[in-house]
Amino acid sequence: SDPGTPSHFPVKMRPEILALPAYKQGSAAPTGFKLSSNENPFDPLPGVLEAVDAATRQLHRYPNAAAPEITARLAKEWGVETDEVIVAAGSVALLVQFALAAAGHGDEVVYSWRSFEVYPWMTVLPGATAVPVPNTPDHRHDLVAMAAAVTDRTRLVIVNSPNNPTSTIVTKAEFETFMGAVPDDLLVILDEAYAEFITDPDAVNGRELVRRYPNLVILRTFSKAYGLAGLRIGYGIGPAPILGAARTTIMPLSLTDHAQVAAIASLDRSAELQERVANIAARREVVWQALLEQGWDVPRPHGNFVWFPTGERTAEALEVFRAHDIIARAYLPDGVRLTIGEEESVENVLAAAEEIARLIG
Ligand code: PMP
Repeated sequence: SDPGTPSHFPVKMRPEILALPAYKQGSAAPTGFKLSSNENPFDPLPGVLEAVDAATRQLHRYPNAAAPEITARLAKEWGVETDEVIVAAGSVALLVQFALAAAGHGDEVVYSWRSFEVYPWMTVLPGATAVPVPNTPDHRHDLVAMAAAVTDRTRLVIVNSPNNPTSTIVTKAEFETFMGAVPDDLLVILDEAYAEFITDPDAVNGRELVRRYPNLVILRTFSKAYGLAGLRIGYGIGPAPILGAARTTIMPLSLTDHAQVAAIASLDRSAELQERVANIAARREVVWQALLEQGWDVPRPHGNFVWFPTGERTAEALEVFRAHDIIARAYLPDGVRLTIGEEESVENVLAAAEEIARLIG
Protein backbone atom coordinates (compact mmCIF):
# COMPACT_ATOMS: atom_id res chain seq x y z
CA SER A 1 0.00 0.00 0.00
CA ASP A 2 0.96 3.66 -0.24
CA PRO A 3 3.55 4.15 2.52
CA GLY A 4 2.11 7.56 3.35
CA THR A 5 -1.56 6.67 3.82
CA PRO A 6 -2.40 5.67 7.40
CA SER A 7 -3.30 1.95 7.51
CA HIS A 8 -6.67 2.53 9.17
CA PHE A 9 -7.79 4.80 6.33
CA PRO A 10 -10.30 3.14 3.92
CA VAL A 11 -8.79 4.35 0.62
CA LYS A 12 -5.41 5.62 -0.56
CA MET A 13 -5.27 9.38 -0.26
CA ARG A 14 -2.58 12.04 0.04
CA PRO A 15 -1.16 11.85 3.59
CA GLU A 16 -0.38 15.57 3.74
CA ILE A 17 -4.05 16.34 3.05
CA LEU A 18 -5.28 13.83 5.64
CA ALA A 19 -3.03 15.51 8.18
CA LEU A 20 -4.24 19.00 7.27
CA PRO A 21 -6.83 20.69 9.50
CA ALA A 22 -9.75 22.12 7.51
CA TYR A 23 -10.09 25.91 7.40
CA LYS A 24 -12.11 27.02 10.43
CA GLN A 25 -14.42 30.02 10.35
CA GLY A 26 -14.75 32.48 13.21
CA SER A 27 -17.68 31.37 15.30
CA ALA A 28 -21.13 32.83 15.10
CA ALA A 29 -23.22 32.85 18.27
CA PRO A 30 -26.93 33.24 18.89
CA THR A 31 -26.37 36.34 21.01
CA GLY A 32 -23.77 39.05 21.30
CA PHE A 33 -21.69 41.17 18.96
CA LYS A 34 -20.04 38.99 16.30
CA LEU A 35 -16.55 40.47 16.13
CA SER A 36 -14.75 37.26 15.17
CA SER A 37 -14.50 37.45 11.36
CA ASN A 38 -13.45 41.01 10.48
CA GLU A 39 -16.77 41.64 8.79
CA ASN A 40 -18.32 45.00 8.04
CA PRO A 41 -21.16 46.02 10.40
CA PHE A 42 -22.97 48.06 7.73
CA ASP A 43 -25.70 46.86 5.38
CA PRO A 44 -24.75 46.56 1.70
CA LEU A 45 -24.24 49.92 -0.04
CA PRO A 46 -27.24 51.52 -1.81
CA GLY A 47 -28.03 49.82 -5.12
CA VAL A 48 -26.42 46.51 -4.22
CA LEU A 49 -29.56 44.65 -3.21
CA GLU A 50 -31.42 45.82 -6.33
CA ALA A 51 -28.57 44.65 -8.57
CA VAL A 52 -28.42 41.28 -6.83
CA ASP A 53 -32.19 40.90 -7.04
CA ALA A 54 -32.09 41.45 -10.81
CA ALA A 55 -29.35 38.84 -11.17
CA THR A 56 -31.46 36.39 -9.19
CA ARG A 57 -33.92 36.25 -12.10
CA GLN A 58 -31.21 34.46 -14.08
CA LEU A 59 -30.51 31.79 -11.46
CA HIS A 60 -31.29 28.96 -13.90
CA ARG A 61 -28.36 30.11 -16.05
CA TYR A 62 -24.66 29.62 -15.39
CA PRO A 63 -22.89 32.84 -14.45
CA ASN A 64 -20.66 34.63 -16.93
CA ALA A 65 -17.54 33.59 -15.06
CA ALA A 66 -15.28 35.53 -17.45
CA ALA A 67 -16.64 38.59 -15.62
CA PRO A 68 -16.11 41.11 -18.45
CA GLU A 69 -17.90 44.08 -16.86
CA ILE A 70 -16.34 44.06 -13.42
CA THR A 71 -12.95 43.27 -14.98
CA ALA A 72 -13.22 46.28 -17.31
CA ARG A 73 -14.40 48.45 -14.44
CA LEU A 74 -11.48 47.46 -12.21
CA ALA A 75 -9.02 47.94 -15.08
CA LYS A 76 -10.31 51.49 -15.45
CA GLU A 77 -10.15 52.18 -11.71
CA TRP A 78 -6.54 50.92 -11.54
CA GLY A 79 -5.36 52.37 -14.86
CA VAL A 80 -4.40 49.00 -16.36
CA GLU A 81 -5.46 46.72 -19.24
CA THR A 82 -8.11 44.05 -18.62
CA ASP A 83 -5.51 41.25 -18.83
CA GLU A 84 -3.80 42.83 -15.82
CA VAL A 85 -6.92 42.16 -13.71
CA ILE A 86 -8.09 38.81 -12.35
CA VAL A 87 -11.40 38.36 -10.53
CA ALA A 88 -12.50 35.31 -8.55
CA ALA A 89 -14.87 34.12 -5.83
CA GLY A 90 -12.98 35.85 -3.03
CA SER A 91 -9.30 36.57 -2.60
CA VAL A 92 -9.01 33.18 -0.88
CA ALA A 93 -9.88 31.61 -4.24
CA LEU A 94 -7.17 33.71 -5.88
CA LEU A 95 -4.58 32.72 -3.27
CA VAL A 96 -5.29 29.06 -4.01
CA GLN A 97 -5.12 29.70 -7.78
CA PHE A 98 -1.70 31.35 -7.49
CA ALA A 99 -0.42 28.59 -5.20
CA LEU A 100 -1.58 25.91 -7.66
CA ALA A 101 -0.03 27.77 -10.57
CA ALA A 102 3.31 28.52 -8.90
CA ALA A 103 4.26 25.92 -6.28
CA GLY A 104 4.31 22.12 -6.57
CA HIS A 105 5.98 19.25 -4.70
CA GLY A 106 9.37 20.25 -3.35
CA ASP A 107 8.72 23.96 -3.83
CA GLU A 108 8.55 26.44 -0.97
CA VAL A 109 6.12 29.19 -0.03
CA VAL A 110 7.37 31.91 2.32
CA TYR A 111 5.02 33.96 4.49
CA SER A 112 5.05 35.75 7.81
CA TRP A 113 3.65 34.04 10.89
CA ARG A 114 1.39 34.73 12.57
CA SER A 115 -0.65 35.76 9.59
CA PHE A 116 -3.74 34.68 7.65
CA GLU A 117 -4.51 31.01 8.33
CA VAL A 118 -5.24 30.32 4.68
CA TYR A 119 -1.52 30.68 3.80
CA PRO A 120 -0.32 27.38 5.35
CA TRP A 121 -3.43 25.61 4.07
CA MET A 122 -3.12 26.79 0.46
CA THR A 123 0.56 25.82 0.49
CA VAL A 124 -0.17 22.20 1.36
CA LEU A 125 -2.93 21.77 -1.27
CA PRO A 126 -0.52 21.64 -4.24
CA GLY A 127 2.05 19.70 -2.16
CA ALA A 128 4.45 22.57 -1.54
CA THR A 129 6.34 23.23 1.69
CA ALA A 130 5.48 26.10 4.03
CA VAL A 131 8.28 28.37 5.24
CA PRO A 132 6.71 30.53 7.97
CA VAL A 133 8.94 33.38 9.14
CA PRO A 134 8.20 34.61 12.69
CA ASN A 135 6.82 38.11 13.15
CA THR A 136 8.97 40.64 14.97
CA PRO A 137 8.36 41.01 18.75
CA ASP A 138 6.13 43.99 17.91
CA HIS A 139 3.89 41.74 15.78
CA ARG A 140 5.08 42.97 12.37
CA HIS A 141 6.39 41.19 9.28
CA ASP A 142 10.16 40.69 9.42
CA LEU A 143 10.78 41.40 5.74
CA VAL A 144 14.55 41.13 6.09
CA ALA A 145 14.19 37.61 7.50
CA MET A 146 11.57 36.80 4.86
CA ALA A 147 13.93 37.80 2.06
CA ALA A 148 16.68 35.76 3.73
CA ALA A 149 14.35 32.72 3.84
CA VAL A 150 14.07 32.67 0.04
CA THR A 151 15.94 29.73 -1.55
CA ASP A 152 16.14 28.48 -5.13
CA ARG A 153 13.07 26.34 -4.31
CA THR A 154 10.91 29.29 -3.29
CA ARG A 155 8.08 29.89 -5.76
CA LEU A 156 5.86 32.30 -3.85
CA VAL A 157 6.19 34.87 -1.08
CA ILE A 158 3.09 36.36 0.53
CA VAL A 159 3.18 39.74 2.24
CA ASN A 160 0.06 40.72 4.18
CA SER A 161 -0.51 44.40 5.01
CA PRO A 162 -2.42 45.15 7.20
CA ASN A 163 -1.56 41.76 8.65
CA ASN A 164 -4.36 39.49 9.78
CA PRO A 165 -4.56 39.00 12.77
CA THR A 166 -2.10 41.53 14.24
CA SER A 167 -3.37 44.57 12.25
CA THR A 168 0.19 45.84 11.66
CA ILE A 169 1.45 47.22 8.34
CA VAL A 170 4.51 46.94 6.16
CA THR A 171 5.95 50.36 5.31
CA LYS A 172 6.59 51.59 1.78
CA ALA A 173 10.33 51.68 2.49
CA GLU A 174 10.40 48.15 3.94
CA PHE A 175 8.52 46.80 0.96
CA GLU A 176 10.73 48.50 -1.57
CA THR A 177 13.86 47.12 0.10
CA PHE A 178 12.27 43.68 0.20
CA MET A 179 11.39 43.73 -3.51
CA GLY A 180 14.97 44.76 -4.26
CA ALA A 181 16.30 41.84 -2.21
CA VAL A 182 14.29 39.00 -3.79
CA PRO A 183 14.83 37.69 -7.33
CA ASP A 184 12.55 39.31 -9.89
CA ASP A 185 11.48 35.90 -11.23
CA LEU A 186 9.97 35.01 -7.84
CA LEU A 187 6.23 35.64 -7.50
CA VAL A 188 5.35 38.03 -4.67
CA ILE A 189 1.74 38.50 -3.61
CA LEU A 190 0.87 41.60 -1.61
CA ASP A 191 -2.39 40.67 0.14
CA GLU A 192 -4.16 43.95 0.91
CA ALA A 193 -7.54 42.62 2.01
CA TYR A 194 -7.80 45.47 4.55
CA ALA A 195 -6.10 48.23 2.56
CA GLU A 196 -9.10 50.58 2.56
CA PHE A 197 -8.91 50.99 6.36
CA ILE A 198 -5.32 52.30 6.33
CA THR A 199 -4.79 55.92 7.34
CA ASP A 200 -0.99 55.86 7.85
CA PRO A 201 0.70 57.48 4.83
CA ASP A 202 3.86 55.39 5.38
CA ALA A 203 1.99 52.12 4.76
CA VAL A 204 2.68 50.23 1.57
CA ASN A 205 -0.08 50.89 -0.96
CA GLY A 206 -0.67 48.62 -3.94
CA ARG A 207 -2.15 51.56 -5.83
CA GLU A 208 1.32 53.10 -6.05
CA LEU A 209 2.97 49.82 -7.10
CA VAL A 210 1.01 49.08 -10.26
CA ARG A 211 3.43 48.06 -13.08
CA ARG A 212 6.45 48.76 -10.86
CA TYR A 213 7.62 45.13 -10.63
CA PRO A 214 7.46 42.21 -13.11
CA ASN A 215 6.80 39.72 -10.29
CA LEU A 216 4.25 41.48 -8.05
CA VAL A 217 0.52 40.74 -7.77
CA ILE A 218 -1.70 42.91 -5.56
CA LEU A 219 -4.74 41.24 -4.01
CA ARG A 220 -7.84 43.11 -2.90
CA THR A 221 -11.32 41.99 -1.83
CA PHE A 222 -14.90 43.23 -1.69
CA SER A 223 -15.44 41.27 1.55
CA LYS A 224 -14.15 43.78 4.08
CA ALA A 225 -14.51 47.53 3.42
CA TYR A 226 -17.19 46.92 0.76
CA GLY A 227 -19.10 44.55 3.06
CA LEU A 228 -19.78 41.83 0.46
CA ALA A 229 -18.23 38.92 2.41
CA GLY A 230 -21.26 36.70 1.82
CA LEU A 231 -21.18 37.07 -1.97
CA ARG A 232 -17.53 36.07 -2.47
CA ILE A 233 -15.62 38.35 -4.81
CA GLY A 234 -12.01 39.51 -4.79
CA TYR A 235 -9.44 40.51 -7.39
CA GLY A 236 -5.80 40.76 -8.29
CA ILE A 237 -3.82 43.37 -10.22
CA GLY A 238 -0.54 42.30 -11.79
CA PRO A 239 1.46 41.38 -14.87
CA ALA A 240 -0.68 39.73 -17.59
CA PRO A 241 1.42 36.53 -17.97
CA ILE A 242 1.26 35.78 -14.24
CA LEU A 243 -2.49 36.38 -14.09
CA GLY A 244 -2.89 34.26 -17.23
CA ALA A 245 -1.28 31.31 -15.46
CA ALA A 246 -3.57 31.79 -12.46
CA ARG A 247 -6.62 31.90 -14.76
CA THR A 248 -5.95 28.29 -15.76
CA THR A 249 -6.30 27.05 -12.16
CA ILE A 250 -9.63 28.72 -11.36
CA MET A 251 -12.45 26.56 -10.04
CA PRO A 252 -14.66 26.75 -13.15
CA LEU A 253 -17.92 28.73 -12.88
CA SER A 254 -17.42 29.61 -9.22
CA LEU A 255 -17.73 33.40 -9.60
CA THR A 256 -21.45 34.27 -9.60
CA ASP A 257 -23.22 37.03 -11.51
CA HIS A 258 -24.62 38.20 -8.17
CA ALA A 259 -21.17 38.89 -6.84
CA GLN A 260 -20.15 40.69 -10.03
CA VAL A 261 -23.14 43.05 -10.16
CA ALA A 262 -22.88 43.72 -6.43
CA ALA A 263 -19.23 44.69 -6.83
CA ILE A 264 -20.04 47.07 -9.69
CA ALA A 265 -22.91 48.64 -7.72
CA SER A 266 -20.56 49.09 -4.76
CA LEU A 267 -17.89 50.76 -6.88
CA ASP A 268 -20.61 53.18 -8.02
CA ARG A 269 -20.96 54.34 -4.41
CA SER A 270 -17.42 55.35 -3.59
CA ALA A 271 -18.47 58.42 -1.58
CA GLU A 272 -20.62 56.35 0.78
CA LEU A 273 -17.90 53.75 0.96
CA GLN A 274 -15.34 56.37 2.05
CA GLU A 275 -17.72 57.55 4.74
CA ARG A 276 -18.23 54.07 6.16
CA VAL A 277 -14.54 53.25 6.08
CA ALA A 278 -13.74 56.54 7.83
CA ASN A 279 -16.37 55.74 10.45
CA ILE A 280 -14.79 52.36 11.23
CA ALA A 281 -11.23 53.76 11.15
CA ALA A 282 -12.24 56.52 13.58
CA ARG A 283 -13.81 53.98 15.95
CA ARG A 284 -10.64 51.88 15.72
CA GLU A 285 -8.58 54.89 16.89
CA VAL A 286 -10.96 55.52 19.81
CA VAL A 287 -10.75 51.87 20.89
CA TRP A 288 -6.98 51.73 20.48
CA GLN A 289 -6.42 54.92 22.53
CA ALA A 290 -8.72 53.61 25.28
CA LEU A 291 -6.80 50.31 25.33
CA LEU A 292 -3.49 52.15 25.67
CA GLU A 293 -4.96 54.05 28.60
CA GLN A 294 -5.96 50.75 30.17
CA GLY A 295 -2.29 49.75 30.00
CA TRP A 296 -2.54 47.39 27.02
CA ASP A 297 0.47 46.83 24.81
CA VAL A 298 -1.65 46.56 21.66
CA PRO A 299 0.17 47.17 18.35
CA ARG A 300 -1.16 50.16 16.45
CA PRO A 301 -4.05 48.76 14.38
CA HIS A 302 -4.39 49.56 10.67
CA GLY A 303 -7.16 47.16 9.61
CA ASN A 304 -10.74 46.95 10.91
CA PHE A 305 -9.51 44.88 13.85
CA VAL A 306 -7.30 44.95 16.93
CA TRP A 307 -4.79 42.40 18.26
CA PHE A 308 -4.58 41.57 21.98
CA PRO A 309 -1.30 39.74 22.70
CA THR A 310 -2.75 37.69 25.57
CA GLY A 311 -0.33 34.74 25.14
CA GLU A 312 -0.94 31.87 27.56
CA ARG A 313 -4.05 33.65 28.90
CA THR A 314 -5.80 33.73 25.52
CA ALA A 315 -8.51 31.18 26.34
CA GLU A 316 -9.40 33.05 29.53
CA ALA A 317 -9.47 36.36 27.68
CA LEU A 318 -11.92 34.91 25.16
CA GLU A 319 -14.19 33.85 28.02
CA VAL A 320 -14.19 37.36 29.49
CA PHE A 321 -15.15 38.82 26.12
CA ARG A 322 -17.90 36.20 25.89
CA ALA A 323 -19.21 37.19 29.33
CA HIS A 324 -19.51 40.74 27.95
CA ASP A 325 -21.48 39.54 24.89
CA ILE A 326 -18.49 39.87 22.58
CA ILE A 327 -17.59 37.07 20.19
CA ALA A 328 -13.86 37.47 19.52
CA ARG A 329 -11.42 35.11 17.80
CA ALA A 330 -8.72 33.26 19.74
CA TYR A 331 -5.36 32.39 18.17
CA LEU A 332 -3.88 29.94 20.65
CA PRO A 333 -1.40 30.43 22.20
CA ASP A 334 -0.73 33.95 20.94
CA GLY A 335 -3.67 36.26 21.32
CA VAL A 336 -7.16 37.46 20.54
CA ARG A 337 -8.29 39.28 17.42
CA LEU A 338 -11.26 41.57 17.72
CA THR A 339 -13.10 43.24 14.84
CA ILE A 340 -14.09 46.90 15.07
CA GLY A 341 -17.82 46.54 14.62
CA GLU A 342 -20.89 48.60 15.40
CA GLU A 343 -20.75 51.67 17.64
CA GLU A 344 -22.92 49.87 20.22
CA SER A 345 -20.26 47.21 20.78
CA VAL A 346 -17.54 49.60 21.97
CA GLU A 347 -18.71 49.90 25.57
CA ASN A 348 -18.76 46.11 26.00
CA VAL A 349 -15.40 45.71 24.27
CA LEU A 350 -13.71 48.21 26.57
CA ALA A 351 -15.33 46.83 29.72
CA ALA A 352 -14.12 43.34 28.80
CA ALA A 353 -10.65 44.58 27.89
CA GLU A 354 -10.31 46.37 31.22
CA GLU A 355 -11.31 43.23 33.09
CA ILE A 356 -8.81 41.13 31.12
CA ALA A 357 -6.04 43.67 31.73
CA ARG A 358 -6.70 43.42 35.46
CA LEU A 359 -6.87 39.63 35.31
CA ILE A 360 -3.59 39.10 33.49
CA GLY A 361 -1.83 42.03 35.13
N1 PMP B 1 -6.62 37.92 2.94
C1 PMP B 1 -6.69 38.20 4.24
C2 PMP B 1 -5.48 38.70 4.93
C3 PMP B 1 -7.89 37.99 4.94
O1 PMP B 1 -7.94 38.24 6.24
C4 PMP B 1 -9.02 37.53 4.26
C5 PMP B 1 -10.34 37.31 4.92
N2 PMP B 1 -10.34 36.80 6.18
C6 PMP B 1 -8.87 37.24 2.91
C7 PMP B 1 -7.68 37.47 2.27
C8 PMP B 1 -9.97 36.61 2.13
O2 PMP B 1 -11.00 37.39 1.80
P1 PMP B 1 -12.07 36.93 0.74
O3 PMP B 1 -11.79 35.52 0.30
O4 PMP B 1 -13.35 37.03 1.46
O5 PMP B 1 -11.90 37.89 -0.38
